[in-house]
Amino acid sequence: MKVQKEKVVIIGSGAAGLTAAIYAARANLNPLVIEGIQPGGQLTITTDVENYPGYADVVQGPWMMEQMKLQAIKVGARIISDIVTKVNFNNDIKNIILDSKKIFECETVIITTGAQAKWLGLESENQFNGKGVSACATCDGFFYRNKEVAVIGGGNTAVEEALYLSNICSKVTLVHRRDKLRSEKILQKRLFAKENIEIVWDSVVSQIKGDENGVNALELLSTNSDDKKLIKLDGVFIAIGHVPSTEPFKNSIDMDDEGYIIAKNPGTSFTNVDGVFAAGDCVDKIYRQAVTAAGMGCMAALDAEKWLQNK
Ligand code: NDP
Repeated sequence: MKVQKEKVVIIGSGAAGLTAAIYAARANLNPLVIEGIQPGGQLTITTDVENYPGYADVVQGPWMMEQMKLQAIKVGARIISDIVTKVNFNNDIKNIILDSKKIFECETVIITTGAQAKWLGLESENQFNGKGVSACATCDGFFYRNKEVAVIGGGNTAVEEALYLSNICSKVTLVHRRDKLRSEKILQKRLFAKENIEIVWDSVVSQIKGDENGVNALELLSTNSDDKKLIKLDGVFIAIGHVPSTEPFKNSIDMDDEGYIIAKNPGTSFTNVDGVFAAGDCVDKIYRQAVTAAGMGCMAALDAEKWLQNK
């Protein structure tokens, strides 16, 4: 097994990780970024970004992340494509073990592994995953051109996905378990204005139905009566939130019940493990924005730099 010594290793390459890399590289810390399963993070599976400061015109998520990566490389960060399978944070020097069996011995580690889409947990959802069930409209919407689909959820993601799909599909049904959306008002206004979007309120999915060709219907249950409803459609997009991608760090670092890493001192990136910092959606379950993740990535690099100086 190959062992490599590093000063700063950043795990994850979304907005938090790449911003941490830019700041750490400019502080001459020669950071190494381990890209992970989804290089560029969640923004690579979105389309229009119109709330990241600095762009008067709408930009595309994948393009923005490619720019962030190029910027990190330009200022001196090294980026490798690999996955962390295990860590050992018990000693001063932290060990990171990769899927490729490489081992890094690190002075500091910045965890920016982000979060992933949540699923409903139905057996039928699992059965038809990739055959009509998806958690990414911008990835799979193309396959439902002029077809009928449903989006499940009432947050920003669900509304954005419904709006996106309404430009591709003949009809979109948004299914929400309450009678009020959680999403921003501006998105709601756009949603209500779309003629080919129908909203089914106070309902949950009880079953996703289909055959060997994939999904063909959705069974819904009312949350305030015994009503059952069957909707014929071709695809279902689940948009009910996220879970943090922190599995390899379980039992190595303090996390809450949902698996989000806990900042030792709120407002900083310090964790309970000396020399290990965390930033972005793996810590933050409230804001979850590209800009807040980037801001936290910057904080983590500055915290790590100061920590190394004081050591
Ligand atoms: P949210 O947690 O905001 O919303 C999840 C939605 O799914 C809620 O409406 C929730 O219902 C519903 N839900 C959760 N679990 C279930 C379940 N088991 N069955 C049925 N429905 C369920 O997640 P999002 O992914 O929408 O957004 C996450 C964060 O990212 C937010 O802070 C959001 O603002 C941000 N975001 C911002 C964007 C932007 O600014 N352009 C784009 C996308 C996301 P209920 O309301 O009843 O809890």
